[in-house]
Amino acid sequence: MSERKLLMIPGPIEFAPEVMEKLGQPTVSHVAPAFMESFGRALELMRKVWLAPSGQPFIVAGSGTLAMDMAGANLIETGDNVLVVSTGYFGERYAELLKRYGANVTFLQSEVGDVVPLETVEAELASGNYKLMTFTHVDTSTSVLVDAKAMGALAQKYNVLSILDGVCSVAGEEIRQEEWGIDVVVTASQKAVGVPPGLALLVASEKAMSAWRNRKTAVGNYFCDWSLWLPIMQAYEGRNPSYFATPPVNLIQALERSLELILAEGMDARFARHKRLANKFRDEMRSLGMIFIPKSETVQANTLTAPYYPEGVNGGEFLGKVGQNGVVIAGGLLPSHKTQYFRVGHMGIVSEEHIDRTVDAIKKALN
Ligand code: PMP
Repeated sequence: MSERKLLMIPGPIEFAPEVMEKLGQPTVSHVAPAFMESFGRALELMRKVWLAPSGQPFIVAGSGTLAMDMAGANLIETGDNVLVVSTGYFGERYAELLKRYGANVTFLQSEVGDVVPLETVEAELASGNYKLMTFTHVDTSTSVLVDAKAMGALAQKYNVLSILDGVCSVAGEEIRQEEWGIDVVVTASQKAVGVPPGLALLVASEKAMSAWRNRKTAVGNYFCDWSLWLPIMQAYEGRNPSYFATPPVNLIQALERSLELILAEGMDARFARHKRLANKFRDEMRSLGMIFIPKSETVQANTLTAPYYPEGVNGGEFLGKVGQNGVVIAGGLLPSHKTQYFRVGHMGIVSEEHIDRTVDAIKKALN
């Protein structure tokens, strides 16, 4: 069998052996006391990782798209005005998703490689009667990072609910959900949270939960309805048996372990490590003459990097050669620029050694 390649795409990523071990353990009942303990603890630890001490966490089998869907399904009623602030592919997707629930969407799209200026967002919030605003913290198609703190402050100022798509940022980029006043932070397990694909995760503020409680119409999505899921989360947090849909037992045990590892490192240390390794990787790419999709350092993500291929390099051949050198990286995603750039994920348990191996594989491929 050939040796496994290092997985440096923007999710799924490399996972800690202690986390992987949980997936191989014999599965216990979803109402076994030991599992109720794991589920309850995972919910409690999510509040710490999200920095949302009074938030309501949800853990559901699914992916990031389901977490986005759950937030939309519960907070939107037909005719609600929503502002979607987009920095790429995943913002466009959120607009389409919210329209399915009858949202009246205003769409602000940044230029490729940039953010929508805060003044533009503010002018739109001031002029419209918005219920909710969504934005992508790190758009995985462009590696553009949005100033989540400033966006949270704007949402507060105009009394608009906010949803942050943190699929490519939670547990990698700095997010202080409660302090920054962000109502819902959604993510998935397979990126910086450090668990193989299969979990949709979100934490909702008291304000978001109360907006949901005050709905005039029923939630139009059965599987996503918080009235079916909230009692389950509350039961597990109280270490009581409960059932709505069978929870992914091993994945939730793996989540508990990964959240413990994240908190053992410490959130500030973790944010700093992601920043340091992102800078190291980009310095190396710069020294090879590469430039990046993001137009300036201030909008560069710390969880992934999106460099343009150097002049004369065939993308497909290059990715293939990097793969032959033992490292898997990803091609472009943004349809308009797909063939012009590639993407390297550096999040979760990423280390200096992972960065060095990736840089070596890229250098060899270019030679
Ligand atoms: N939003 C962002 C920013 C993402 O990067 C992704 C996945 N790459 C998604 C949403 C969708 O998540 P999933 O693929 O887990 O459904």
